[in-house]
Amino acid sequence: MQPLDTIAAISTPLGEAGIGVVRISGSEAHSVATKLVGRDTSRWPSHAVRLVRIVQPDGGQPVDTALMTLFRAPNSYTGEDVIEFSCHGGPAVVRAALDACLAAGARLAEPGEFSRRAFLNGKMDLTQVEAVAALIQSRTQAALRAAHAQLAGALADQLRAMRGSLIELSARLEAEIDFPDDIEEIGRGELDAPLRAVEEQIGSLLRTARRGIALRSGLRAAIVGKPNVGKSTLMNLLLGRDRVIVSAIPGATRDVVEEEIDIAGVCVRLADTAGLGEPTGELDAAGIERTLRQVAAADIIIAMFDASTHFDDNDSRMAALVRGRPAVAVVNKTDLARLLDADTLVDALSDPGGRLAIVETCLLRGEGIEDLERAIGALVCGQLVGDAEGLMICEARHADALRRTAEHIAGARQAESTREGRDLVSDELRAAADALGEITGERASPAIIDEIFSRFCVGK
Ligand code: GDP
Repeated sequence: MQPLDTIAAISTPLGEAGIGVVRISGSEAHSVATKLVGRDTSRWPSHAVRLVRIVQPDGGQPVDTALMTLFRAPNSYTGEDVIEFSCHGGPAVVRAALDACLAAGARLAEPGEFSRRAFLNGKMDLTQVEAVAALIQSRTQAALRAAHAQLAGALADQLRAMRGSLIELSARLEAEIDFPDDIEEIGRGELDAPLRAVEEQIGSLLRTARRGIALRSGLRAAIVGKPNVGKSTLMNLLLGRDRVIVSAIPGATRDVVEEEIDIAGVCVRLADTAGLGEPTGELDAAGIERTLRQVAAADIIIAMFDASTHFDDNDSRMAALVRGRPAVAVVNKTDLARLLDADTLVDALSDPGGRLAIVETCLLRGEGIEDLERAIGALVCGQLVGDAEGLMICEARHADALRRTAEHIAGARQAESTREGRDLVSDELRAAADALGEITGERASPAIIDEIFSRFCVGK
């Protein structure tokens, strides 16, 4: 394979900081570094740090005094020779250091290109590459732990073992078809046991997907209620800062506003919705339409009722919307004269088997907010039951490929049971193995690979 060109990029955010790192990777990394530091670095020991003076290669203009760390191929992040300069962390300094690298023959790296090389050089499989992206983007400690587990590679190992057993089976079937006289026919039992083992592993991995995907991308929560019930006030209280305009004019929040908060270690994307009142104009109708979509897509719903008004048609429409869904009911404005009938509310919300928490609040004074947070926390945890310690599926892409794998295995079983021919069984097993290979990258299309690396920033 043709050696790739040598790339360089700033690997830390641009701004005033203690240090700023410029990273170089490729077969010419030493030639670039030698021009910058004025000494032959090619024999310097790997995994060691040296204090160096960096100068512009074309004129000797001083750039910075920096620490140079050297990682010799293949023992580096990318698998190539990697050199990192830890410069003083000022935007002009690190830009000058990067310019010096480019003047010395490196090319500016594209987003995620260092990680792409790590993948191409077999240092990481696609699940680990995704774990690196997830690690950087983690908002909560729980998400971080899940990303670390995936980066460690146990998921990839398990998937590879599953794929190996499917490939072996289909290869044996193909041999049986090609050489019917020489190869003993594989008995049904011999097919069944390994397939069942793979199916069971897929089943237990998929059972973790809901929790895993929620840990990575967050749960969606929608705050709903008729105009003026206190939705924006609640949103602001939960966020602990003014994010939404609180107004006494009904229907002020026409667009859906989203913010992220950390509840029980899970990132919850909180959406304040337009009021669910009677549509009085085009804008309101559009707002209500959006709200309904938001509610349909929400993992948890916070349904608000006004203690100071009678239970009306809007309330009853909303109660119908949340019945049977994971929801918390909030009865707000308990400081005002009470007109809301508690029994009517309970009747409207009750559903067989449902255990909806009802929390009373006076958000104007911040009363009841702790109880409400506890109720939301319980709801979040209730959505995420699962084995937190074992392997977890955290990407929708992985869950989708696992489902397709299971479908192909089911197809193979079907073909076997109806005696449609063993070549069909073998084809289905190959397709199942290919679907698993998409996850680790052994069979991923360039489009999938491009999509994954597009999530990275420059310099990673
Ligand atoms: P939204 O239309 O549902 O988003 O409602 P807002 O959050 O904008 O609140 C509407 C009005 O109700 C504002 O004037 C709030 O200050 C007021 N409000 C919110 N919570 C309470 C409460 O517990 N008691 C009283 N008396 N007023 C409240």
